[in-house]
Amino acid sequence: MDLDRLVDGVRAGDRRAAARAISMVEDGDAELPELSARVFPLTGGAHTIGLTGPPGVGKSSLVNGLVGALRGRGSTAAVLAIDPTSPLSGGALLGDRVRMQEHATDPGVFIRSMATRGHLGGMALAAPEAIRILDASGKDIVFVETVGVGQAEVEVAAATDTTLVVVAPGWGDAVQAAKAGILEIADVFVVNKADLDGARDAVRDLRQMLGLGEHGAWIPPVVATAAVRSEGIDELWDAIDAHREHAAATGSLEERRRRRTIEEVEAMVAARLGDVAAEMLADDAGRALAADLAARRTDPYRAAELLLKRVGVRADVASEAGP
Ligand code: GDP
Repeated sequence: MDLDRLVDGVRAGDRRAAARAISMVEDGDAELPELSARVFPLTGGAHTIGLTGPPGVGKSSLVNGLVGALRGRGSTAAVLAIDPTSPLSGGALLGDRVRMQEHATDPGVFIRSMATRGHLGGMALAAPEAIRILDASGKDIVFVETVGVGQAEVEVAAATDTTLVVVAPGWGDAVQAAKAGILEIADVFVVNKADLDGARDAVRDLRQMLGLGEHGAWIPPVVATAAVRSEGIDELWDAIDAHREHAAATGSLEERRRRRTIEEVEAMVAARLGDVAAEMLADDAGRALAADLAARRTDPYRAAELLLKRVGVRADVASEAGP
């Protein structure tokens, strides 16, 4: 394939080019590293917004409302909806996505669901790559909506410039939120379905909890919305804009992006080393090693050290990796 033409298409905002490039990410295409190298210099222009929260709280409805408001201000948007990594929860959740069809024919909006089929390192590595393609396509805002609730989904939503954690009344008390590990990652809290009973309590509880918890210079605001009635959307944009301005002014945006890239490289190396380990354990020597383990002739530490030595890595697996 002609990568130059593809990247020119992406850059020009051509939907088919962007869709094709994202398919390459999903499939873990052999030309992905080349594509990635060409796309990377074109990125950094978009503000990325992640949304996470339990299924059914109204994330898709919110994105729909946010995109509507954004278009009203003349900005453009891309929406990347991350499909659950578990095939068990797939279908039903995805069927609901039709709501976004409202914007499907708008040339200023690009909507795309994504699953991973062959990408090394799974969604945690595939998503940032897809986000960069959308960034390079010149959209002002890239939304990343995660459909599932697992750790992987939370991580993907957190790997953005502004992370929204969405809850609904009755979903939960503080303990549940803390357990789900979504408190720390929120830059803005959204209590959606504010038209339902219990929304005020949920807002108050969250504010109280945030007051107690540890946070830096930015205290995550709690915004109440009713996405189905388009209520609270402007207030939510104000909160997002305030976070963006704060992050840009304090340098935390740049720092966050820098750290994200480093972590991505780390994860890439780890994923590749994991593959190498699997390959080594599948060859003749690996099978002999497995037999030794089964017969208790060797132990997991020694086996791991042996394999690490084979790839030239200093082999002290038992100790924490220091800098
Ligand atoms: P997601 O799974 O988090 O993306 O949630 P959806 O956006 O698919 O919404 C799940 C359901 O909640 C749908 O039936 C929506 O119509 C409904 N919903 C979304 N926002 C609101 C809201 O503000 N109030 C009420 N009452 N229902 C809502």
